[in-house]
Amino acid sequence: MSKTAQTVWNNCLEFIKDNIQPQAYKTWFEPIIAVKLTDNALSIQVPSKFFYEWLEEHYVKILKVSLTKELGEKAKLVYIIKMENTYGNKQPFTEKIPSSNRSAVKSQEVDIPLKNKNPELRNPFVIPGIRNVKIESQLNPNYSFENFLEGDSNRLARSAGLAVAAKPGGTSFNPLLIFGGVGLGKTHLVHAIGVDIKDKYPEKTVLYISAEKFTQQYIDSVKKNNRNDFIHFYQIIDVLIIDDVQFLSGKTGTQDVFFHIFNHLHQNGKQVILTSDKAPVDMQDIEQRLLSRFKWGLSAELQTPDFETRVSIVKNKLYRDGVDMPDDIIDYVAKNIKSNVRELEGAIISLIAQSSFNKKEVTLDLARIVVEKFVKNTKREVSIDYIQKVVSDYFQMDVSTLQSKTRKRHIVQARQLAMFFAKKFTKASLASIGSQIGKRDHATVLHACKTVDNLTSTDKQFKKYVDDITKKLSV
Ligand code: ADP
Ligand code: MG
Repeated sequence: MSKTAQTVWNNCLEFIKDNIQPQAYKTWFEPIIAVKLTDNALSIQVPSKFFYEWLEEHYVKILKVSLTKELGEKAKLVYIIKMENTYGNKQPFTEKIPSSNRSAVKSQEVDIPLKNKNPELRNPFVIPGIRNVKIESQLNPNYSFENFLEGDSNRLARSAGLAVAAKPGGTSFNPLLIFGGVGLGKTHLVHAIGVDIKDKYPEKTVLYISAEKFTQQYIDSVKKNNRNDFIHFYQIIDVLIIDDVQFLSGKTGTQDVFFHIFNHLHQNGKQVILTSDKAPVDMQDIEQRLLSRFKWGLSAELQTPDFETRVSIVKNKLYRDGVDMPDDIIDYVAKNIKSNVRELEGAIISLIAQSSFNKKEVTLDLARIVVEKFVKNTKREVSIDYIQKVVSDYFQMDVSTLQSKTRKRHIVQARQLAMFFAKKFTKASLASIGSQIGKRDHATVLHACKTVDNLTSTDKQFKKYVDDITKKLSV
């Protein structure tokens, strides 16, 4: 029987499978595709450059042994790196495949001699502010499970958190992704998990970090040329908590490195905990392969708490601060501040402060004034989603119509208005506005803003649209 790339590779896989951990096999070998066999060289396609680096660093020996068994002493392995759009042409080494061999997959071929590189040990990466030897967890002990009050809105997320804390890395909730709107307790809950783990397993290395800080560290490491140390540092963590991963959207370099770290941790049974302001399906500009990783474990939503939960959160806060407050006031505040626990707490703190400052009892009148201030302030935060909703409602169309590719004039105008208001009322970049409003590029958004400016000064009807929508967005 003549040998084909597939049969040779299948035999290699069989051998490899018997010799490494099942999880590692799944992660690093199942995604590989055998592409071709020429004489003694087998070409395999790997999903990314990281993948190739990883195989080279960890599995080159077993690859060599298995391939030599199949193809003899002169066996050679050729990696074909499937290019992800995001890599562009950043890769330093290229050896073009002759065009006749080019398949539909855009790829780069890298010819690697099969020798064990025996990677040297590197110093642990030092994060500014974190001591060299002992890794500080960066956890806030005030954010505990005990004072994370349970309600229908958070029951699933809270119990998943407890399960993870009891057996970090040992449940199917890996990664655990907690998502939900602003001020609903994501940060609190993931700290609570970390704190609980530290309590139960003091020897485990737990690290809490915001995605923003993670990104900054990564950028610094690239500048300082110690990207590998950065990766290495994160790979020794037992429980990695990354807050607000939506921050990674559009940041392909950081996403790549996180993907790499994630795979390593996951494969070694380490726990990853993430938070995001959106469900994975709604995340924009996050690479597909990363999103699919997020979906491996459990995504649990924190919803807005119902009235009873809001009341118990307020009471708990008052109790901890040793303050008494009449029930009707608590009810009033909890009834009127609905969508954000942080604001609920803020209103209560503000009430306590005012009453102690004026040495007065908290009255319902005072509560009214304070609540009004809070409710008003929050209205000022306009999101791009909200703008799209308001604009499409105004023109009586669905948001999906507004985002569609159609060139129908009234829909194009609505879309341009949404872009214009997103520019005006949010801090988002043109590129980010474009990607959120129907996946357009920054030039389209810029053009939209100019068009709206022009039409506003030349077309009365159009000016009325702008004024009407401005009013709707400002209340
Ligand atoms: P997010 O990260 O989702 O924006 P945070 O975790 O910062 O929200 O929570 C905002 C505030 O609300 C924090 O002070 C937190 O302690 C409090 N909080 C949120 N949910 C609860 C809850 N279920 N019980 C008690 N406090 C809560
Ligand atoms: Mg938060």
